[in-house]
Amino acid sequence: RPVQAAEKAYVIGTDVTYAPFEFANDKNQYVGIDIDLMNAIAKTEGFKVTIKPVGFNAAVQSLEAKQIDGVIAGMSITPERQEKFIMSDPYYSVGVVMAVKAGSKITSLKQLRGQRVAIKTGTAAGAYATSLQKKYGFKTVTFDDSNNMYQDVTTGNSVACFEDSPVMQYAINTGMKLKIVTKPANATGYGFATTKEHAALARQFNAGLKKLKANGTYSKIIQKYLGTGS
Ligand code: GLN
Repeated sequence: RPVQAAEKAYVIGTDVTYAPFEFANDKNQYVGIDIDLMNAIAKTEGFKVTIKPVGFNAAVQSLEAKQIDGVIAGMSITPERQEKFIMSDPYYSVGVVMAVKAGSKITSLKQLRGQRVAIKTGTAAGAYATSLQKKYGFKTVTFDDSNNMYQDVTTGNSVACFEDSPVMQYAINTGMKLKIVTKPANATGYGFATTKEHAALARQFNAGLKKLKANGTYSKIIQKYLGTGS
């Protein structure tokens, strides 16, 4: 029997909790669209992955420092990130929404003047909020993970937060007492990021994604976490 070459093993950073893209299930295993997609692509393309849930900003920083090989974390493809990293083909489209405490009278950006708004460190939604800060005259407070950001709003410390639409909607559907008050803005696609040294891995991701889309696995993964309506 021919000797099989050892499969390459890559360390992939992800967010701590960013459901439905990554979260720990009741058996304390990491699951979600990103995790299932990454594992399925690794299987199809013949490489191994170790998933490290270190937090979004920490994962991006570690990738920049080349301490890990890739990031899959509901990471928006932006021109700045394309300069630093190789970003894969988009695998999911999102927009940014503003959410307020359920029952809040705030329904628009105009009502944020003089108020405190919670944002998440290093995120596209945070950058979007920051770009509106001057015009609408609000203060920001930053959090490293989404749950702490949401809780700053549910407890009333901040009046609003900014988050990717499907993630915000999923949190609300699973009990977070927040309400979305704006239409999705600043549309981006989510991509898998690698360092520029990992061009082969980036190519494998894109090739695997294509195959999973063609053979129905991609749709199955989306349906598993978001239902048929999505
Ligand atoms: N999509 C956002 C970004 O890329 C947020 C990602 C996240 O919080 N995991 O900045």
